[in-house]
Amino acid sequence: MRCPLCKGSTIDFYRDEREFARCTVCKAIMLLPRYFLTAEEEEKRYLLHNNNVEDLNYLHFISPITNAVQEDFPVTSTFGLWLWYRPGSFSLFKKTGVFH
Ligand SMILES: [Zn+2]
Repeated sequence: MRCPLCKGSTIDFYRDEREFARCTVCKAIMLLPRYFLTAEEEEKRYLLHNNNVEDLNYLHFISPITNAVQEDFPVTSTFGLWLWYRPGSFSLFKKTGVFH
């Protein structure tokens, strides 16, 4: 397959119940399109949460991101993080321990 970002060639990267490829040019990692959710599945998953930091389903939904940030950036490190503006984004990261 071709990289959707730069159109470079890709190689197998990782496989579990799904398959991922890595671009040999820009190093982007992508899920193979045959594993993409349908529009209906996306909407169903999206509707499972809202951006309320008191909503446990939302905290669970976003936990892969907050956990990865916490693992890669210890509390003592300084780093920049670009956040898309979403109501509650800052509160979310404070509540999950990413910001102190
Ligand atoms: Zn690429």
